[in-house]
Amino acid sequence: YVELMNSELTVLKGVGEKKSALFAKLGINNVWDLLYYFPYEYEDRRTFQKIATCPEGELCCIKARPCSKLAKKPVNRKVALFAIRVADDSGVINVKWFSAQYFKGDFVADSEYVFYGRCVTAYGRREFEMKSYEVAGKDVTTGVILPVYHSTAGLGQHIIRSAVNTALDMVDEIADALPDRICREYQLIDMDATIRTMHHPKDADSLEKARRRLVFEELFVLQLALMFLKTRRTKYDGIKFSNVKCVADFSQTLPFELTDSQKQVINEICRDFISSKPMNRLVQGDVGSGKTVVAASAIYCAYINGYQSAMMAPTEILAQQHYATLKSMFGDEISVVLLTSSTPKKKQVLADIAEGKYDVIVGTHALIESNVDFKNLALCITDEQHRFGVNQRAKLFEKGATPHVLVMSATPIPRTLSLILYGDLDVSVIKALPKGRQPIDTFCVKSDMHDRVYAFVKKHLDEGRQCYVVCPLVEQSETLDVLSGVEFEQTLREKVLPGYRIGLLHGKMKPDEKDAVMDDFKQHKLDLIVSTTVIEVGVDVPNANVIVIENAERFGLSQLHQLRGRVGRGEHKSYCILVTDNDNEQTMERMNIMTSTTDGFVISQKDLELRGCGEFFGTRQHGLPELKVANLFTDMEILKLAQEACQNELESDPLLEGEDMAHIRSRIQKLFEKYDSFNIFN
Ligand code: ADP
Ligand code: MG
Repeated sequence: YVELMNSELTVLKGVGEKKSALFAKLGINNVWDLLYYFPYEYEDRRTFQKIATCPEGELCCIKARPCSKLAKKPVNRKVALFAIRVADDSGVINVKWFSAQYFKGDFVADSEYVFYGRCVTAYGRREFEMKSYEVAGKDVTTGVILPVYHSTAGLGQHIIRSAVNTALDMVDEIADALPDRICREYQLIDMDATIRTMHHPKDADSLEKARRRLVFEELFVLQLALMFLKTRRTKYDGIKFSNVKCVADFSQTLPFELTDSQKQVINEICRDFISSKPMNRLVQGDVGSGKTVVAASAIYCAYINGYQSAMMAPTEILAQQHYATLKSMFGDEISVVLLTSSTPKKKQVLADIAEGKYDVIVGTHALIESNVDFKNLALCITDEQHRFGVNQRAKLFEKGATPHVLVMSATPIPRTLSLILYGDLDVSVIKALPKGRQPIDTFCVKSDMHDRVYAFVKKHLDEGRQCYVVCPLVEQSETLDVLSGVEFEQTLREKVLPGYRIGLLHGKMKPDEKDAVMDDFKQHKLDLIVSTTVIEVGVDVPNANVIVIENAERFGLSQLHQLRGRVGRGEHKSYCILVTDNDNEQTMERMNIMTSTTDGFVISQKDLELRGCGEFFGTRQHGLPELKVANLFTDMEILKLAQEACQNELESDPLLEGEDMAHIRSRIQKLFEKYDSFNIFN
């Protein structure tokens, strides 16, 4: 059984090397992956509707014969709108759908087809918006609920379906990872029934039961893992600082007065420093609220008390910026060093860190590599913590003997969910922005306004300001119709804004190239940078006051908010211009929210509503392993049960050594392994 589950897909009849490679693109490498590859939706093919009486707006099937030629209307270079007229014995309707330009279809007049989609009324006429079609009788099994899988080019639904079915036939019984006693206690159906139902549900009710079981198991494993991390940390005593008053002296040296919010948060941090427990605190503050100086105050305090601090940032650009900021705040008194993958004379630098020649070490992931040793690390800070994994945070912690931990984030999360995400963290909030900030004006325009947009940009450049232009991609894409950074930078430089100093910044550049561009921008040797989202987090250039975001439809709300946060960081009135030609409902809603509020909390709530939790709380946002089935928002009840089960389990078996937990134990290990090589059981 284990062997079969771990076998490559080529053991399945009908799957050869070629298909197997396509499956690999979907992250499916063995039979187990395939069985765990669940449909993202289902088509209810249990009943057919008649054209004449087909209910408005509901997904359904009709069975009909084409009575016109296939018509095609190009939308852009890649996509066209297709239409065909079809009839059954009750009436006639136009079937419409979007497809790739090259789509030809295989419609034969007078043959019968099954069309799946929904009936809508457009401009007073009923038409059928199609999602899929098949030849009646041949491909379609009626009377079932049909699974629909995310697929990739060359791998049609029927190939995935038949591979899944073959696998389900080959496996006698899918084993349970959860011990029986837990399944009984929480009324969970067994794994074999669960997996089979997920692919072929009998009805909505059995599907719900199967989902419940999967959600429970997923959240159970995740939470056990998180609780492990937490218990390891709280058993220790913290490093007690004797002098925290020094922080007030430090604030006197700053070029600005701290806001009341900042003072309060710094105060909370100091209270942790003098307690006997290690600090474990999240500082939440909207973009531009001034988190860096809060971190700097904490670092200063650690220094005065004779300890080293480490500050980790998610990108080279941000690490470089923090390094420069801290150096200028601390002057010569404190020695700061930058540690990234491209740090020159690394060996020497590492030796100096270990010997305590540096007081503050700023860097990227390079900080948590195994070759980095500190002399007496007492404070670990992670900036933009949502970009890091839970275990990366933990790794930095392991570099010291029970150091204080401070994590900073601009993404607010609803209180109900903070338990699972930061169950072990105290939370401080920077509530207000520094005084004198003017609200950022945000506009949404179509690309035919480009001339006016860049005339506006030009006007501000002429007044001595600087601008960002964000493009979704680095290079021209074959399949997507969006602006690329490389191309657009050239257009701006040669045609739109000749004579201005324009730079290009993207993730594929070498770290020192990126630094050079950022440095030039900071020192105003560049007027404008065209960038991909590498400037998304943290970048701080107060003189920049206009950001143009091209193909804004390509970005999520939180991301747009982060990008917009690059401006409005100084005294200058700032502007954010969202350019998009996409007028679908969801895009428009996102743009409306962006133009109507600058409140990060509102935006994050909306983001959650619009995207659902899966994505919002996915790896990218909060550093948790990606959830495959659970939705932390709607599955709150199950979350609570799973939490309770975890607590009981750890109470009776703190090291999960029980024999019936062996499966779960290896799942937990795998969860973090996939992420990186950190082994939480060590
Ligand atoms: P974020 O919270 O997004 O990380 P930063 O720490 O980068 O924000 O701060 C944004 C800008 O505001 C920086 O240029 C910083 O120097 C400035 N700043 C921070 N605190 C204050 C304050 N109390 N008064 C005025 N400007 C401030
Ligand atoms: Mg920041």
